[in-house]
Amino acid sequence: MTKTVKIIGGGLAGCEASYQLAKRNINVELYEMKPRKFSDAHHSENLAEVVCSNSFKSTLLSTASGTLKEEMKIMDSFILKVASDCSVPAGSALAVDRDKFSSEVTRRLENMKNVKIIRGEVKSIDLSEPTIIATGPLTSDTLAEEIQKLLGEEGLHFYDASSPIVDASSIDYSKTFSTSRYQKGDSDYINCPMDKVTYYKFVDELTKATRVELHNFEKSEIFEGCMPIEVMAQRGVDTLRFGPLRPVGLVDNEGKRPFAVVQLRRENAGGDMFNLVGFQTNLTFGEQKRVFSLIPALENAEFVRYGVMHRNTFINSPNHLNSDFSMKKYPLIFFAGQITGVEGYMESTMSGLVAGINMANKLMEKQKIEFNNLTITGALCNYICAKNQNFQPMNANFGILAPLERDIKGKTEKKEAYAKRAIEEMKKIMERDNEH
Ligand SMILES: Cc1cc2nc3c(=O)[nH]c(=O)nc-3n(C[C@H](O)[C@H](O)[C@H](O)COP(=O)(O)OP(=O)(O)OC[C@H]3O[C@@H](n4cnc5c(N)ncnc54)[C@H](O)[C@@H]3O)c2cc1C
Repeated sequence: MTKTVKIIGGGLAGCEASYQLAKRNINVELYEMKPRKFSDAHHSENLAEVVCSNSFKSTLLSTASGTLKEEMKIMDSFILKVASDCSVPAGSALAVDRDKFSSEVTRRLENMKNVKIIRGEVKSIDLSEPTIIATGPLTSDTLAEEIQKLLGEEGLHFYDASSPIVDASSIDYSKTFSTSRYQKGDSDYINCPMDKVTYYKFVDELTKATRVELHNFEKSEIFEGCMPIEVMAQRGVDTLRFGPLRPVGLVDNEGKRPFAVVQLRRENAGGDMFNLVGFQTNLTFGEQKRVFSLIPALENAEFVRYGVMHRNTFINSPNHLNSDFSMKKYPLIFFAGQITGVEGYMESTMSGLVAGINMANKLMEKQKIEFNNLTITGALCNYICAKNQNFQPMNANFGILAPLERDIKGKTEKKEAYAKRAIEEMKKIMERDNEH
């Protein structure tokens, strides 16, 4: 019997998932609410609209996004193929002519005989039908309410206000100490002390730094929910010392209370990434690097992910999803794209790809593909479903990969070694899937 999968949302993830299912001879009904209804950021009638920058980031293998692209090429990514066909010169980055790209994705899907594109907003979810929900960071309100009913009050977030994350190996531990506040509980935090001169210089630079321009629709709801550190700093030079940088209850290795303290909290179980506690920020990425590097222990810190503040509907994936993007409670329902807590164009596409392949495998009673932490794909899939009380979206980066088997000193050599290992592993994974 021919099987049919309903895909909700014709963005990057939904289109990628549609192609992966259709090429495996599964019928697809792809629902897209445009042009009947547009989110605040979408304007084109076409599928796979690129809403902001036209860059899909670097193609260099010494970068995590370049490595992810290479993995996706091995997995036969449809979106990546169309992007390459519609690319515009952008140095080592893959950038697209956005109109050509979206209309080409739409045209190619329309021409696939087992893909039916249905225009209209989906307002409810039928749990008995194989479905992939890929409605993105700006999921329509009615469907978002349905998803919230399905997952419970804590299951869905509406904006992302994440602090920056640094690579643990790039922290200068000679300038940190690790007792807990009032010596209560385990000393899970790394404390980065600042003296008076450094603190005031930091506050001065923070308040002057360049910020990202928010969209009108984002302004009120984001700032109601969470105040950026630079806005807090503007309220008075000592505000941070009485807020997230308060030193009370903390004594350094010499038994003294520092003037101010930035705390770093473990981001993953392996302890190879730490986030800056209370540093929700709206500064541009370049300014985050410049200003946060004024914190003595972070002078040479490598930022695995910069802080962001934007409207972003995403589910609390660790409680609800498996690593193949299927729901723990309803095995026929998958989520894909930015709504799963991956962050970025390529990451969203990758999740549509993995959800599409695994939905197909499930319906064809084939084994599920397990992507492991040697690949960026697997590390992201595993990140979003790993237990995490402070779950925040994650982009492609080398910090989430399993450590290398041998220590490599040079930064570029280390990244290239991660990339080489990831690509070899992805080839093996896909060969195994083809054999089954
Ligand atoms: C304003 C903004 C700017 C961004 N800029 C960047 C950037 O520059 N670089 C980057 O890497 N990432 C960026 N992102 C993050 C993310 O990578 C993109 O949003 C990406 O397009 C996500 O892909 P997706 O397939 O998950 O969702 P989308 O591409 O948003 O696709 C979701 C689709 O679902 C449709 N839909 C929604 N609700 C329903 C419904 N109920 N029924 C039917 N259809 C529905 C929407 O119309 C849309 O076409 C940005 C996000 C936002 C919100």
